Amino acid sequence: MRNREVAAVLYEIADLLEMREVDFKPRAYRTAAQNIESLGTDVEELHQQGKLEDIPGVGKGIAKKIAEFLETGRVKKLEDLKRDMPVDLPGLSAVEGLGPKRIEKLYRELGITTLDDLEEAARRGAIQDIEGFGENTQQAILENLAFARRSRDRYLLGYVQPEAQEIVEALKPHVEAIEVAGSLRRKKETIGDVDILVVASEPARAMEAFTGMDRVEKVLMQGDTKSSVRLYGGIQVDVRAVDRDSFGSALQYFTGSKEHNIEVRKIALRHDYKLNEYGLFHGEQKLAGTTEEEVYEALGMQWIPPELRENRGEVQAALDGALPDLVQDEDVRGDLQMHTTWSDGNHSVAEMVEEAVALGHEFIAITDHVGSLKVAGGLDQKDLEEQGEEIAAVREEHPEIHIFHGLEANVMKDGSLDVGEGVLDMVDVVLASVHSAFRMDQKSMTERVIRAIEHPRVNILAHPTCRIIQKREPIQLDVERVLEASRENQVVMEINAFPERLDLNDVHVKMAVERGVKLSIGTDAHRRDHLRYYRLGIAVARRGWAEADDVINTYSVQQLQKLFGA
Ligand SMILES: [Zn+2]
Repeated sequence: MRNREVAAVLYEIADLLEMREVDFKPRAYRTAAQNIESLGTDVEELHQQGKLEDIPGVGKGIAKKIAEFLETGRVKKLEDLKRDMPVDLPGLSAVEGLGPKRIEKLYRELGITTLDDLEEAARRGAIQDIEGFGENTQQAILENLAFARRSRDRYLLGYVQPEAQEIVEALKPHVEAIEVAGSLRRKKETIGDVDILVVASEPARAMEAFTGMDRVEKVLMQGDTKSSVRLYGGIQVDVRAVDRDSFGSALQYFTGSKEHNIEVRKIALRHDYKLNEYGLFHGEQKLAGTTEEEVYEALGMQWIPPELRENRGEVQAALDGALPDLVQDEDVRGDLQMHTTWSDGNHSVAEMVEEAVALGHEFIAITDHVGSLKVAGGLDQKDLEEQGEEIAAVREEHPEIHIFHGLEANVMKDGSLDVGEGVLDMVDVVLASVHSAFRMDQKSMTERVIRAIEHPRVNILAHPTCRIIQKREPIQLDVERVLEASRENQVVMEINAFPERLDLNDVHVKMAVERGVKLSIGTDAHRRDHLRYYRLGIAVARRGWAEADDVINTYSVQQLQKLFGA
């Protein structure tokens, strides 16, 4: 699936057009990019069927560009635009507060094309003199630079995963064994590059199949044991061929993390063994290497699920035989946050329900925004009543799934909810979340959120830290105090499974699990295609050591009704 690459191209065209102050078009390109990014179907397949224009927001002109890209790997319009404006757009726009128009101004006035140029200009005080910038903006740029640098060249798990899976599928006919390694196998929230290990009787052939794929923009290196390419969209993929009897030890080695491997090698040393990518050795004698399981077993440890390999106590737990029995995809019975056309979603209640049924869910919660949040089209009491009637009708049509009528309420600055009491009694489940005034000091923000948790009708705190990966820093929260309040008030903490959010993150999930705070997975779907992101939520739960019992999406409908007090 090349959807992510196509979206990246359209986003870049949108930004470059906006820099040239073209009207309307940037918005059109951006809408098309967003829809393609979250499309459940393969854009290449649609192209082959001549159905590109079926994608919402894709008209003739944009369809042509997509076709050109899929067929030739380039888009002439993008190349022309880039020639006129040779700036590192992805890098510079990662700096909070810098949009295409400001980047254009910085280029025109100061010739800034890279993050380095930007830092240099800010340090010597040249930016504050540009019209519309000023001293505060210059200071904010300096503060946000480090964040921008960190997030550059990393890609979101949710978008990399399907692409890597397709590469694996394409290579399968050419290899005897294949496995993704690295941070992608550990399901980290962002991925630097993709590492794939193969065993092949004819490695040269496998490498040819790999480097010859359509999605490859540039071959960085091609050899019999290792090849590297850069895909359209920027991510680097390495394929390594290893011997069959070293596949397990190589997989262990290349899966990492570095910190985990250091600890495991210490255990090997204790036994006077040596562990490397070729195997586990005692002197000249090879003890293990074909599978990962035998490597860990020979060290007297349980096999450790990749998601846990971050040196957060998993090595000792594996030695003690005390690893958690992690929650699995199959344990999850439903989704507890989604939006429909009633607020800012793109699909109706019925459409979301149909998709959820197709995914095999036993229950969902429809949780549209209520209250005054303008951008999200919040519902009032009357809307909610009408929505309740619609949901009742859909329930008749779909007795195979339980539909909780829920809502997502805004937590105001003082911690109160942006709704009347009567409204909350109209629904089965209440989500509360912060959607405004993100910049408050830790003490006030913590008190604000705790007050919402203490509200007797709140069931779930949604996207608790409000971070947007690579775009917005989390709000300042004393997470320990928030978790303590959640436990006391039996409020569930959400793992928002939307690719850009993954909030709570893995570290906070582990803290919640240790404190006996329950977790819920909500995709925050705004389109039916988004509902499949629930697996990303499970990945985060697993990285946070959660078992099935810690995640309320594994509960039965009756258990949930009891929990929600509905
Ligand atoms: Zn929200």
